[in-house]
Amino acid sequence: AMSSALKVAVVTGSNKGIGFAIVEHLCKQLGSSWAVYVTSRDEARGADALSQLKQRGVEPRFHQLDIDSQESVDRLAAYLKGTYGGLDILVNNAGIAYKGDSTAPFAEQAEVTIATNFWSTLRICDALFPLLRPHARVVHLCSSVSDMALNKASPELQKKLTQPMSLDEVKQLMSDFVARAKAGTVQEAGWPQTAYGVSKVGVRLMTYAQARDVKGDDIVINCCCPGYVDTDMTSHKGPKTIYEGADTPVYLATLPPGVKQPIGEHLYERKVVPWAVKPGFTIA
Ligand code: NDP
Repeated sequence: AMSSALKVAVVTGSNKGIGFAIVEHLCKQLGSSWAVYVTSRDEARGADALSQLKQRGVEPRFHQLDIDSQESVDRLAAYLKGTYGGLDILVNNAGIAYKGDSTAPFAEQAEVTIATNFWSTLRICDALFPLLRPHARVVHLCSSVSDMALNKASPELQKKLTQPMSLDEVKQLMSDFVARAKAGTVQEAGWPQTAYGVSKVGVRLMTYAQARDVKGDDIVINCCCPGYVDTDMTSHKGPKTIYEGADTPVYLATLPPGVKQPIGEHLYERKVVPWAVKPGFTIA
C-alpha cells in the first residue's frame, strides 16, 4: 500500500504551544514522504490546531491521544501499526505544570504532575517503542529545572541521582517521591519541594536508562530543554517564541542516520548539558 511507504512522526500534546510549533517545523522540514501527526487529548482542540496549521501552510494528520489514558495510547499504537507498520519519530512533548500560585496541596501536585510528566510519558514509550523502525528518533521534552532540582538536592541524594540508574530504579524513585509527598517527608529524603522539577528529573533519568537499554538499529533517544517559552504553561512569561522553543526538539528529532552524538543526552540550545552537580549553580 502507498501509505505503508510513508515515514511517520508523532508529537504528543501538539494542539498548542511548543508541540504545535514542532509539528509545523517537522512538516516543513520532512516533506511529502512523511506523515506527521498532531495529537490532542481533545478532538475539538485538535481540529482547531489543524486548521491553524493549514493557514500556516502545512497539512499534518491528526489522531486523538490522551497520554494519561491507557486505552487512548493503545488505540494510537494499534492505528500506527495497522496503517504504517511502524514509527520513525516520537516527540514526547505533552506535559503539565501547576502555576506557582496554585493552592492545591503539595501531595496532589506531586501525584498529578509525576503521573502525567513521568508515568504517562513512560506509558507512551512502552506502547510505541515496539513500533520504532531502524533510524528512529525519540525526543522527550525535559527542562533545565531538572538541573535546578539536582543542584538543590541533598548531597546524599545528588550522589544517588548522578550514578547510572536502571529504569526500574527510576520508577522506584518517582513512586517514592510521591509517597513522601503524601507523608510530608520529601525534604527528609533530600528532595527540593518541587513536583514539576522532580518530574523532569524523572524524564531525564528515564532518557539515560532508555538510551542504554534500547534495542534496534540506530534508534536514538535524547531529551532537551526548549528554553523559557511564551506558552500557556508559563502564563506567557517566557521570552522565546514557540518556534524558537521547537528548535532543539526538532534538531534531535531529525538527527541524521548513523549519528554518533548526541545519544542519550539532555540538550539546551542544541548543546549537551552534563548531568552533574555544578558548584555555585545558578539559573541561567
Ligand atoms: P502548554 O501548556 O502550552 O501545552 C502543553 C500541551 O500538552 C497541550 O497541548 C496540552 O493539551 C498537552 N497535554 C497536557 N496533558 C496531556 C495529556 N494527558 N495528554 C495529551 N496531551 C496533554 O505547554 P508548553 O508548550 O509550554 O510545554 C510543552 C513541553 O515543554 C512540556 O513538556 C513542558 O514541560 C516543556 N517545557 C516547557 C517550557 C516552557 O518554557 N514553556 C520550559 C521547559 C520545558 P491541552 O491543550 O488539552 O491541555
